[in-house]
Amino acid sequence: MARYTQATCRLCRRVDDKLMLKGERCFTSKCALERRHVPPGYRSTSRRRPKKSDRGLQLREKQKGRYTYGILERQFRKFFAEAERLPGATGENLLVLLERRLDNVVYRLGFASSRSQARQLVRHGHFLLNDRRTDVPSCLVKSGDVVAWRDRSTQTEYYKTLVQEIEDKTIPGWLTLDTQKLVGRVLALPTSGDIEVKFDEKVIVEFYAR
Ligand code: SF4
Repeated sequence: MARYTQATCRLCRRVDDKLMLKGERCFTSKCALERRHVPPGYRSTSRRRPKKSDRGLQLREKQKGRYTYGILERQFRKFFAEAERLPGATGENLLVLLERRLDNVVYRLGFASSRSQARQLVRHGHFLLNDRRTDVPSCLVKSGDVVAWRDRSTQTEYYKTLVQEIEDKTIPGWLTLDTQKLVGRVLALPTSGDIEVKFDEKVIVEFYAR
């Protein structure tokens, strides 16, 4: 499955926004956007970004959506096409579909500090979805689904550290977590109001409408 493999912080610098793609590091002074607030390829911090056209601003929002969930254009378009097919507002449908991805749910449950780490954990087969091993990060969860660690994975140092730290993590209201066994459940599908993201989904709809 194709994925972005270049330096992650370049993505934040490209859209000039902290997308929080690297977990803890994003909260420290090591954040690349804090240290070097210029687009990739700019040497001087005094060089200003060119003013964006309306189309450029729409493109930027779409890229922010894509970068946030760590997916490539083709798959993002597929999500958008599915969002258009569903009843209701396309932008909200898009948000909910993206949020239902298994890698995102693993991230939201606090099992990983970033979506890219969550994706890697899923790809490495650490989780059971409804008692079945699932290693497909784009798999969409449904209401009532249960996400649990595989027995074998509970022996890892990563898991043991996580058990000690999980109490401090905040999870969204549409999910619930057994903090002893680290088993998560989808209480209900999220609504757009439950989802905190750094892009405007309505502008993404405008981008694809042209
Ligand atoms: Fe973006 Fe985080 Fe990198 Fe800062 S550290 S540029 S917020 S990914």
